[in-house]
Amino acid sequence: MTAPGTDPSLCDLGRAELGELLDGEPAYRLDQVWDGLYRQRRPLAELTNVPKSLRQAIGELLPPALTLVRTQSADRGTTTKHLWSLRDGHLVESVLMRYRNRTTLCISSQAGCAMACSFCATGQVGFDRNLSVGEIVEQVLGTLREAGSDERAIKSEAAPGRAINVVFMGMGEPLANYEAVWAAVERFHGDMGIGARHITVSTVGVIPGIARLAAEALPVNLAVSLHAANDRLRNRIAPINRTYPLRDLARSLADYRRAKRRRISFEWAMIGGINDTDRDAAELAAYARPLAAHVNLIPLNPTPGYGHQPSPAGRIEQFAAELSSHGVNATVRQNRGTSIDAACGQLRADKLVSVRKDGRGARSRAER
Ligand code: SAH
Repeated sequence: MTAPGTDPSLCDLGRAELGELLDGEPAYRLDQVWDGLYRQRRPLAELTNVPKSLRQAIGELLPPALTLVRTQSADRGTTTKHLWSLRDGHLVESVLMRYRNRTTLCISSQAGCAMACSFCATGQVGFDRNLSVGEIVEQVLGTLREAGSDERAIKSEAAPGRAINVVFMGMGEPLANYEAVWAAVERFHGDMGIGARHITVSTVGVIPGIARLAAEALPVNLAVSLHAANDRLRNRIAPINRTYPLRDLARSLADYRRAKRRRISFEWAMIGGINDTDRDAAELAAYARPLAAHVNLIPLNPTPGYGHQPSPAGRIEQFAAELSSHGVNATVRQNRGTSIDAACGQLRADKLVSVRKDGRGARSRAER
């Protein structure tokens, strides 16, 4: 399961495939490599219980999928954006956010995105390609490694401490790259000890993908980027709604809830004058309440291709109060990483690809 046009990387291989590669080695080698990489989260080169020649041979055959291009920090060092180059030159970003008792990793599932939501920077750039499972998994391993030993000495339901959450809220639509995303989820859960309740798949509402998720054994959290609760408006700001309209989406979410017994959450970017009136709140409440969904309100983050402004703080408070009066719980999401374009919907790394391909190294938007 590799990206088109690229040879597999180490994390593209499942355990059985790695076992085939290690055929002829003592049986315990597979455990050493697999546990070293995923349970202990150490780079291949540091697995000193494995002979150096073998580490080198594996490394040459299956080189890393990602190269770190740059990191940028904000929020007094608690938010860090990582820019990764894929082997074919495409760029993706992931964001690490540290909170008092948890660390959240926001990762990308595609280079670019085909969903074309009008307010989203990734959607404004368009779609390049799906990421492979290795490219997804390496974002987590690489980010934790960059974050240092405190994150590495880990944190899972088995070893409580600062919990790690992985959220598919970076670039791309995870349910449009289902196979690789699910293989990555299984790696996080089965091999890295990150519990299903600490893994969130966020979708703009790709119904066939939601149905597949509902049929999986692992009950991951499901977030849906709703932003509008009437088809007229949603068709405009999230065009996938023309394919998967709100009524059908509600039905698939009800099925998911029934199957997985997990609370669904709705993301709602607060866009001044577009979706932030009391009437919008009433519509959202009518949609969310039968699904017992929780609502996250995110002040719109400015993006280059979208002229609108975030709703004023007072309007957001009023909107939340209105939801509450209709029996729907809402949280106003703290905005992390705005100053480094690392906040929701601001990831737009492939803008840099053209810069790199020209070889001119012009300053990127993110650096200006
Ligand atoms: N495609 C998936 C994963 C992307 S998650 C999805 O749509 O859920 C990124 C989240 O940020 C989504 O909830 C998205 O709607 C939201 N978002 C995108 N652009 C934004 C912006 N400019 N301001 C605030 N939130 C935004």
